[in-house]
Amino acid sequence: MTKNGAAIINGKAYAASLRERIKAEVPKFQEQTGRAPGLAVVLVGDDAASQVYVASKHKATIAAGMESFEHRLPADTKQEDLIALVEKLNADEAVDGILVQLPLPGHLDEKAVVMAIDPDKDVDGLHVINAGRLANGEEALTPCTPLGSLMLLKDQLGDLSGLNAVVVGRSILVGKPMAQLLLRENCTVTMAHSRTRDLPDVVRRADIVVAAVGRAEMVKGDWLKDGAVVIDVGINRLAPEAGKEKGRLVGDVATAEAMDHVRAITPVPGGVGPMTIAVLLRNTLVAASMRAGLVKPEGF
Ligand code: NDP
Repeated sequence: MTKNGAAIINGKAYAASLRERIKAEVPKFQEQTGRAPGLAVVLVGDDAASQVYVASKHKATIAAGMESFEHRLPADTKQEDLIALVEKLNADEAVDGILVQLPLPGHLDEKAVVMAIDPDKDVDGLHVINAGRLANGEEALTPCTPLGSLMLLKDQLGDLSGLNAVVVGRSILVGKPMAQLLLRENCTVTMAHSRTRDLPDVVRRADIVVAAVGRAEMVKGDWLKDGAVVIDVGINRLAPEAGKEKGRLVGDVATAEAMDHVRAITPVPGGVGPMTIAVLLRNTLVAASMRAGLVKPEGF
């Protein structure tokens, strides 16, 4: 809590507690099925950021007591070979979740690869079947970042019913599923994007603001209604200051200004970011339970 009463939402702590809850569920799954939930991660090429993400996903999967299957393929892997691997993983009973690390090298068709994943193992929630299930209000595997953002919102606000929510950004990965999740919680949802007219005015009406744009500190303090709760999904690296090798990481919201208005806000880093891997583990546990014909673990 700051001096003006605004709370900094500690996504790191929430993610750690979620990972602990998942870890506690794994032995129960194991008891009923004789095996641990399994997550397969496929990395094509040697993109530095992707290597780091895949390594942390592997570490977190093992730490939760799950099986981690890593598949590292060379950058010149052919489309048909990648699809063949996905199909093999679809058929593998030990694999409950399949994640193909994006972006793929330019010669590969990302959409076709994602569509080849069995929707019931699509722990990234990017398959059109899962997007459709979510839009229809059915049980769906949902993209990790928006689902993690929703968990933080519910933790702050409890019941979201009737609140005005503005989602800035309409990507398949974040904005669109975020809007669907908020609609499922009975919010009145507005989706804003690059063609939205008078964005500050639209944002000013929101009790909940989710910024998922990718523009450093675009949402200003005076765009925010007093008492709004803000989820800042953006991760932007500023140019390095003199004498520094790397620039600072900032979100899509001008946090310092926002603090004068908001009730609570996620920081960058340490807000939404840590939730993504924790929710990936959650999705793997849920996918494993559904595939095994078990009831969905309570509280997830
Ligand atoms: P995309 O680039 O796919 O989408 C950006 C969205 O922002 C688009 O819908 C675009 O509108 C909209 N937009 C762009 N400029 C403006 C503007 N001036 N005013 C209003 N809307 C605008 O990005 P992602 O959704 O993949 O990611 C968004 C941010 O979230 C990035 O910073 C990314 O790094 C971060 N991110 C963080 C994650 C985490 O774990 N914390 C995970 C995933 C993403 P239009 O559709 O009209 O072009």
